[in-house]
Amino acid sequence: MSDRIESRDPATGQLLASFPAYDEAAVRAAVAAGIPAVQWWAALGFEGRRRRLTAWRRAITRDLSGLADLVHRENGKPVADAQLEIVLAVEHIAWAAAHAPKVLRRRRVVPGWLMSNQEATVSYEPYGVVGVIGPWNYPVFTPMGSLAYALAAGNVVVYKPSEHTPAVGRWLVDRFAEVVPEQPVLSLVTGAGDTGAALCRAGVDKLAFTGSTATARQVMTACAESLTPVVLECGGKDALVVDADADVPAAVEAALWGGLSNAGQSCIGIERVYAVDAVYPEFVEALSRRAREIRAGADYGPMTVPAQVEVVSRHVADAVARGGRAVVGDGTSRPSPWIEPVLLFDVPEDALAITEETFGPTLTVTRVRDADAAVAAVNAGRYGLGAAVFGTARASDIAARLRCGMVSINSVIAFAGVPALPFGGVGDSGFGRIHGADGLREFARTKAVTRQCFPPVLALTTFRRRPSAERLVVALTRLRHGGRLRP
Ligand code: NDP
Repeated sequence: MSDRIESRDPATGQLLASFPAYDEAAVRAAVAAGIPAVQWWAALGFEGRRRRLTAWRRAITRDLSGLADLVHRENGKPVADAQLEIVLAVEHIAWAAAHAPKVLRRRRVVPGWLMSNQEATVSYEPYGVVGVIGPWNYPVFTPMGSLAYALAAGNVVVYKPSEHTPAVGRWLVDRFAEVVPEQPVLSLVTGAGDTGAALCRAGVDKLAFTGSTATARQVMTACAESLTPVVLECGGKDALVVDADADVPAAVEAALWGGLSNAGQSCIGIERVYAVDAVYPEFVEALSRRAREIRAGADYGPMTVPAQVEVVSRHVADAVARGGRAVVGDGTSRPSPWIEPVLLFDVPEDALAITEETFGPTLTVTRVRDADAAVAAVNAGRYGLGAAVFGTARASDIAARLRCGMVSINSVIAFAGVPALPFGGVGDSGFGRIHGADGLREFARTKAVTRQCFPPVLALTTFRRRPSAERLVVALTRLRHGGRLRP
């Protein structure tokens, strides 16, 4: 492990720190070191783990400002946005720790009439060592959806942060080690993509990945070799639908925040808007006016990763080449890595700005006949992470018809702040869920047990079975499921 990766301030290029680049052997060693910790962490039980996770949450909260400053320097986002991200992450640690016993404790289920002599129970057991691979765009909030829930479910975690935000990853793991000094329950492996690839093949019992769809395919391919289960939280192309009875000013503000905050580098950021005929003129007039008031550098930070600047420029140029209109901004950096807001109108549905994840401060705005046309356009995409609907009478119906994992009605990204709600997508946005009860169960193996309490009234699974029992069970089944008694 001789190589190192460098962490740099994306606004200035200044070197912040360097970290070891874990090679395959070092990653394997980290996973192996976690194996003895599995028993120890499991033996603490829900209550013991809750206490440790509470101590971690408090340690993070006590130095919230220090962490926010580090996120600001390493990721580039404004300090206030970093604080909000940390606040949400802390809420998730609290929720996961508090709800793990209720969600995951052994519970009885109804055995049904055929097995009424059995006690039937379901339990949820930790996988063991879980590998977590995270992105750079929300370096605290995003991995926390896997870290906190995997830990609360009783797993040990080896965490590989993005090579662009290793310092934030180091900070989180160091705070955990202060409150859990006994064993490497949460450990860190830093490095570039090959470190992540090594983690997939290092013998972890489950792999939780958050990042781009392209990398997710590589992760799933690597994990398939050993049948290691995966949860994949990938990219998105979230849309906002503005219906005829929407509060238009509210929809405008939501579209701007959803599309431009964090410089548009949000998996659940709004990238497309579909506004129906009745409100389109009012919506685009107000959106254009307000977008001109928003400034890169004041309201949001620089592009965190230099390569992303090129992606945004390419999508804007493609949209314009296909007949779209860049009404505000043109996607050029002045100077890089700052990109001012870009509003694109009349962009054809096959343009990159509509079909691919742009991950920049851009919004396409498309006029549609009605809500049905909006739903059809949203659902035509290959991604299906989140969405937003602004409207009144039909809003819930529209939300129900959108092909995606999460929807906010009359707000944006609200679902991410509700710890009890599962987070995840469909299609190219991935599968599996973090957050909420589903997020806890994602990090547990389900185990079913029956226990015979008394001999069966109708003995059916024995070679001593009696014909009268066979006739009786068929007759009872016809009575229960056949609709009417048959001869
Ligand atoms: P990447 O897919 O580039 O990287 C994600 C993580 O995977 C990084 O830690 C990366 O390491 C690592 N990695 C790279 N190559 C491999 C490999 N072959 N095997 C295993 N791991 C590898 O995504 P970004 O970091 O650029 O993050 C942005 C993407 O994440 C966007 O598409 C965004 O939509 C998505 N995202 C999804 C979220 C969700 O919850 N659905 C939330 C947040 C972001 P390294 O950085 O060192 O290359």
